[in-house]
Amino acid sequence: MITVVGSINMDLAVETDIFPRQGETVQGKRFSTIPGGKGANQAVAAARLGSRVRMIGAVGNDSFGKELYDNLKNEKVDVSGVVTTTNSTGIANILLHNRDNRIIVIPGANYDLSKEIIDEHIHHILESQLVMMQLEIPVETIEHVLTICQEKHIPVLLNPAPAKNFRKEWMDQITYLTPNETECEFIFGADWETVLKEHPNKIIVTLGSEGAAFYDGKKIVRISGYKTDAVDTTGAGDTFNGAFAHAICSGNTIEEAVQFANIAASLSVEKFGAQGGMPKLDEVLARLG
Ligand code: ADP
Repeated sequence: MITVVGSINMDLAVETDIFPRQGETVQGKRFSTIPGGKGANQAVAAARLGSRVRMIGAVGNDSFGKELYDNLKNEKVDVSGVVTTTNSTGIANILLHNRDNRIIVIPGANYDLSKEIIDEHIHHILESQLVMMQLEIPVETIEHVLTICQEKHIPVLLNPAPAKNFRKEWMDQITYLTPNETECEFIFGADWETVLKEHPNKIIVTLGSEGAAFYDGKKIVRISGYKTDAVDTTGAGDTFNGAFAHAICSGNTIEEAVQFANIAASLSVEKFGAQGGMPKLDEVLARLG
């Protein structure tokens, strides 16, 4: 069982040809509501590949909360750790203007995911093969889960996004850290090759269309990006993380898991939406060859 402790959001996407100026009202092109949040996305990515996945997270007592809860259930994610709070469900308000975007995130209920809620669901964590987290929930909750996992020797995969919430003192408590190139440089203040060499078999850096890399203790292992026509790279990192978790929990080496995750993520960028393009196992195996 993989347990994801993380965010659940509704993305509210507004497409427009014109950005309104202050005080101005304009007519836009299209509006869509899309399930998101890095936690939920990574849970769905792993579940689609056939992993048993449980989510610990929080939604509000509103229609988005119900929709997101049902979406996770439909994706076969165990929602027994998803609680409802009095806050509003987390949202990301996304303004899309040609290739430009402007995003406002309201964490809402995600920030109600407290240490106390974790303790109420501690049995879920204790029976996990791997715990997967991101940084869209309160920092003290992340620290609490890291402490529990360290004490109980449960491996942790941490995707440090948004990177500003990361604390370097967590490094000893983390089994796998999966920054993208920008996050890696922001957190460690050095180029990714230098950073990888200081953390063998721990940091896996994702490099967009260039694939991913890690250091095996002797050499940097680079897995090239799979050449494809990307239509939407939203959620590529989330697919990579969910797929990496699935592969590691299925008994693969880090190198095999990175290869698997790289192919899964390449499939995800061929379709629109973060969860929309997340592949099933047979699609990944077919491309892996
Ligand atoms: P994030 O989405 O977190 O910024 P990246 O952009 O590094 O992360 O992408 C994560 C993974 O998705 C990459 O390691 C790669 O496997 C895959 N990927 C991303 N963009 C592309 C692309 N244009 N073509 C093929 N694979 C891609």
